Amino acid sequence: MPFAVVTGAAGFLGSHLVDWLLGAGYQVLGIDNFVTGNPANLAHLEHEPRFDLLVQDVSEFLSVPGKVDQIFHLASPASPIDYLNLPIQTLKAGALGTYRALGLAKAKGAGFLLASTSEIYGDPLVHPQNEEYWGNVNPIGPRGVYDEAKRFAEALTMAYHRSHGVKTHIVRIFNTYGPRMRLHDGRVVPAFIGQALEGKPLTIFGDGSQTRSFCYCSDLIEGIFLLSQSALADPVNIGNPTELSILEFARLICRLAGLPERLEYKPLPVDDPKQRRPDITRADKTLGWTPKIDLETGLRETIDWFRAHRPEARRGGAE
Ligand code: NAD
Ligand code: UDP
Repeated sequence: MPFAVVTGAAGFLGSHLVDWLLGAGYQVLGIDNFVTGNPANLAHLEHEPRFDLLVQDVSEFLSVPGKVDQIFHLASPASPIDYLNLPIQTLKAGALGTYRALGLAKAKGAGFLLASTSEIYGDPLVHPQNEEYWGNVNPIGPRGVYDEAKRFAEALTMAYHRSHGVKTHIVRIFNTYGPRMRLHDGRVVPAFIGQALEGKPLTIFGDGSQTRSFCYCSDLIEGIFLLSQSALADPVNIGNPTELSILEFARLICRLAGLPERLEYKPLPVDDPKQRRPDITRADKTLGWTPKIDLETGLRETIDWFRAHRPEARRGGAE
């Protein structure tokens, strides 16, 4: 049976990846210190014999007995609120955590996949963003702790690939949403859905003209899995190219939730990227991957999930 390690397994994407791997016949070891994760995301696996959880900081030495075939390194605070609250932990997860996870891959002869991010493009001067673009990041701004940690993690991953021959992959994940996001992680999807369901005004940062492109979690996980099975070491964007402004997005959430439109304007955070849309030509050509779930379908699923699971979605992380 193939054996996979998933760091960040108690998080939003990590827990979906664990479910996918179990479905594909893997034995899985999750590693998480719950700094932003939620035990509820793994509760359904309590009696799953093919799943184990190691509660540990990924920045510390990782000891895993036996063979390992594939490591998926997702552990990192990931929402702007989380990484602004946890700047040093974020830098450590990206730098030391990636170093530990790559060391484990090298020792075990395992494949390694890094969960990188569209944030490595910063506030992009090229639109849409393809993998050749080097980005426009402010290294000393408040978001720099996340962006630069991921840029260092990419550099370290390529160094282990070139110097040690580790079979590595880098996925640049664009804004992804779905069930199991934390209600109060500050990202725009849970923020707007939570506000809409609680009858509060939706908080638009800035004038709402900044754009994002939202990918449903099952599409993202499928892309990650296909990449891990490929021979591709170069970074690959995975995201849904449907782009809309944050104001359009707020209106869409209100319409889909069947609730009146109430908006409130707040200051735009420092270094908030003005536009973002993935160029997914590489994923399409090399992996045969394109997203299947359109935004309205994915958002309806997500709104339904938050309606049913708000108490557990409040848990987890630093709250
Ligand atoms: P999340 O916060 O839900 O999950 C991250 C998980 O990592 C949490 O369970 C947390 O407890 C764990 N973690 C953090 N630091 C750790 C450490 N030092 N040791 C052990 N565990 C640690 O976030 P997510 O949205 O699921 O993101 C997962 C990964 O995907 C992250 O690496 C993130 O940078 C990347 N990513 C996500 C998105 C997105 O839109 N969701 C976009 C780009 C990149
Ligand atoms: N945003 C907003 N209101 C909120 C939360 C976020 O207008 O309550 C904006 C935020 O300023 C950004 C966009 O929505 O322009 C996406 O924010 P998110 O934190 O989800 O992701 P990121 O900025 O990392 O893409």
